[in-house]
Amino acid sequence: MAFTEPVLLKRISDDPSKRHTVWYDEYVATGGYAQLRRALEMSADDIIKIVMESGLRGRGGAGFSAGQKWSFIPKEKKGPHYLAVNADESEPGTFKDRYLMDYDPHGMLEGIAIAAKATQCDAAYIFIRGEYHKSAKILEKALAEAYEKGVFGQQGMFGSGYKLECYVHRGAGAYICGEETGLLEALEGKRGWPRNKPPFPAIAGAFGKPTVINNVETLQCIPFILERGPAWFKSMGTPSSPGPKLYGMSGHVNRPGVYENELGITLQQSIDMAGGMKGGKHKGTICGGISMGVLGPDQLDIKLDFDDVRFRGGCLGLGTAGMIVMNEHTDMVKALRNCVRFYAHESCGQCTPCREGSGWMKKILDRIVDGMGRAKDLEMLMELEKTMGIMPGTTICGLADGTAWATRTFINKYYEEFAAKCPEAIEATVPVKISRGR
Ligand code: NAD
Ligand code: SF4
Repeated sequence: MAFTEPVLLKRISDDPSKRHTVWYDEYVATGGYAQLRRALEMSADDIIKIVMESGLRGRGGAGFSAGQKWSFIPKEKKGPHYLAVNADESEPGTFKDRYLMDYDPHGMLEGIAIAAKATQCDAAYIFIRGEYHKSAKILEKALAEAYEKGVFGQQGMFGSGYKLECYVHRGAGAYICGEETGLLEALEGKRGWPRNKPPFPAIAGAFGKPTVINNVETLQCIPFILERGPAWFKSMGTPSSPGPKLYGMSGHVNRPGVYENELGITLQQSIDMAGGMKGGKHKGTICGGISMGVLGPDQLDIKLDFDDVRFRGGCLGLGTAGMIVMNEHTDMVKALRNCVRFYAHESCGQCTPCREGSGWMKKILDRIVDGMGRAKDLEMLMELEKTMGIMPGTTICGLADGTAWATRTFINKYYEEFAAKCPEAIEATVPVKISRGR
């Protein structure tokens, strides 16, 4: 069996005029919270086993096994455990979690309750991107309903002995707080600076306690896995990347939006799903957010799963499957400059290769875009990206890797276009201009 019908989006209408937030009563009337009631009768180990068997991989970008992550939480409790929901959706081109929170907030809340039960958590924090004002309000209302109906709170989940508190915590608009340890720092009221790992959050997370960190879409999958079983989940996708997936389609497509399909459809199929190319032929697609890099014009057959995009596609990975599609009229030098400008602005500044490297890359790209590119600029860009992306352990978090992969894939796949803007002649006649501030 392959993908036949939407699951994650089953409560959300395709028709924008009929689309509305599904509140508690409608959620329950359409089967909601039934799996939580089942989970409350199950042991933590049994829930983890089912999720592990399903092969669910994290939908936040990294694709780490969700069941395995839960299994890292110590079985023997020596203090509180926490669940942090990473709803700090800030990767450019990524907007799928917002869609889920805006229209089916209880889907995530049910996933939170089940995940927390499986990992013996005492409190769950939904860390939501600061700019998502509307989504935060919707979540607060849905959470209030869930408290009133006995899902959360000290009376015990649906009258059982298991108690969980749940809070919505708004971020303040920094991309880096989507990095899980930056998120934890911010949650603790500190500057959102990523921490060195290990220790991983599963051992020492929020307030130094074992903490599970899951993405919104990952949690939304959980009730369906319990309901339909691991075999159903594995009947979709590829052997190493099973299950349904949300694709956020934007850029030069006729019908941008959030679509559901299985993992492993081709890039071409994803574009077709969004109504086909708009304004010209395909030139490239930034897959999974800009940190993953770009798939080129001849890579429409690449499978959108956690392996093919990386091994055949030459990108860092599938990431969030937030696809920015670009047509033949796109200026790839400007597109890369845009990406790097973002990173230079969002670097937290702790690590020299990231702080200095992204700033220098931006200055070099500004110069090329301004028509003052020199032949050795490309060399310098490639050298910088190597320092940032290949040498292991030179930076604390993956932001530097993201900058490097975006740069590497753009220059490799559109070399001629970059080279044409970096002629040797200009070097001799035009003074170097690196005067723009960051
Ligand atoms: P990672 O591969 O380092 O870790 C993935 C997860 O597995 C983390 O939760 C980590 O704690 C856990 N983990 C890994 N090894 C472990 C171990 N040995 N023991 C215990 N836990 C372990 O990736 P990352 O740096 O957390 O995330 C990078 C991804 O984030 C990128 O792929 C990017 O796509 C994505 N991203 C997403 C957004 C967004 O808006 N959704 C924004 C920025 C980046
Ligand atoms: Fe900060 Fe960049 Fe270092 Fe990450 S890699 S901790 S964003 S300076």
